Amino acid sequence: MTVLALEIGASGFAASRIADDVDTDDIRRIPIPAAGAWAKCQELLLEVAGGAEVTDLGIASAGPIDMAAGVIAPSDVPEWRTGFGIVEAARKLFPKARVPLALDGVCLALAERNFGSTGGVMDSLVLGVSERITGGVAVGGFVVVGRTGNAGHVGHVLVPGFDERCDCGGRGCLEAVAGGLAMVRWAREQGWAGATVPELLDAARVGEDIPAAALGRAGTALGRAIASVAALLDLDLVVLGGSLAEAGPALWKPLGEAVATHARLSFLPGLRVVPSQLGDVATIMGAGVLALSGMTA
Ligand SMILES: [Zn+2]
Repeated sequence: MTVLALEIGASGFAASRIADDVDTDDIRRIPIPAAGAWAKCQELLLEVAGGAEVTDLGIASAGPIDMAAGVIAPSDVPEWRTGFGIVEAARKLFPKARVPLALDGVCLALAERNFGSTGGVMDSLVLGVSERITGGVAVGGFVVVGRTGNAGHVGHVLVPGFDERCDCGGRGCLEAVAGGLAMVRWAREQGWAGATVPELLDAARVGEDIPAAALGRAGTALGRAIASVAALLDLDLVVLGGSLAEAGPALWKPLGEAVATHARLSFLPGLRVVPSQLGDVATIMGAGVLALSGMTA
């Protein structure tokens, strides 16, 4: 039995072979190719397969996806923006494999439930905040997949007090304020000279005003969105992962203040927002859980 996991993310692709305990030590990563995305993805998969006959391939993809059709349309992979049949393509590459596909946020929720902070918790929200924002919710002990596989798009929860244009075509979405790419865009409009999310986080860490302000806005927006979702789903645990979760008090302080201000209903005072302990392997671990679960659309 050879099990692989594949992550199609906002800034790159990752693949790993998966052992029984979802050991992902040997993850290979590549940036999103300017062209030939599937060819590069195939190379990556064949490299991690190492000539073995693949029996299961779990795919975690940035959204939107069409789970039943096996199609993904991640906005950061130009060739695939209008839809790519990744499950069919993967079955051609590995004819004997089962190929379950899920939203990256759903995979985060699976990883947290199996290896992270939400094990044994019936109802929770897991957020992944880096270049973009994804999420997964568990309700009544089940990770919610949704009608088309897209439940968990918490980056498009609306946040009061912000009216930024979002890449989805709407306005005022959480991702348009607190997604890393949006934060970089905002900081540059304010006169900051950097260009990437890691640069922005480093600059905030050493106290540069504009990057710190970008994190402050992101923390406030995240806190407001979290309070909304917690009220909707009656939650007491939210896990925050992704590179922004490691931004320290510049993000966490305003986030905590916004949660305290807005999560005021009688069932919400115990609401905890905690950083993920899984680091940047969380999504691919979740794709591994998906692969081992044998779940297919
Ligand atoms: Zn949006």
